[in-house]
Amino acid sequence: MSMAKQRRPGVPEASSEEARQRMERTRQRDTAPEVRLRALLFALGLRYRVDTRPLPGLRRKADVLFRRARVAVYIDGCFWHGCPLHATWPKQNAAFWLDKIETNRRRDADTDRRLAEAGWLVIRVWEHEDPAEAAGRIAAAVRARTEPARPEGRPT
Ligand SMILES: [Zn+2]
Repeated sequence: MSMAKQRRPGVPEASSEEARQRMERTRQRDTAPEVRLRALLFALGLRYRVDTRPLPGLRRKADVLFRRARVAVYIDGCFWHGCPLHATWPKQNAAFWLDKIETNRRRDADTDRRLAEAGWLVIRVWEHEDPAEAAGRIAAAVRARTEPARPEGRPT
């Protein structure tokens, strides 16, 4: 039986314009915060892959991925991932949205854990974050993980 086909109680009807719009927005690729962040990373001299799976067996595509450094960046929407600053809970169908957001948060935590176990660093950026600040944080992490190791025994 397909879970997706099951109609659960509390699912907003198509008449809920707010629900429809939220769902439309989440399907979008290349959101404005992603595009800005990628442009800044490129300007910093970093090269990366977009919308790519870090691990072949894990269906969790990273928004920006640095394979050599093993850094996976996820840009999380404030609503869908339950940002502590912008958690605006819709009054209508509150249980439905709460469940969706909690599911996303559990999946995020699971993704972080699986990638960490495979030697990856996960960096999560809220969509509300200053993109320049986020780009700086990412660039520092990528460089720290790709710089050649210093020869042993030498003073630093
Ligand atoms: Zn936020």
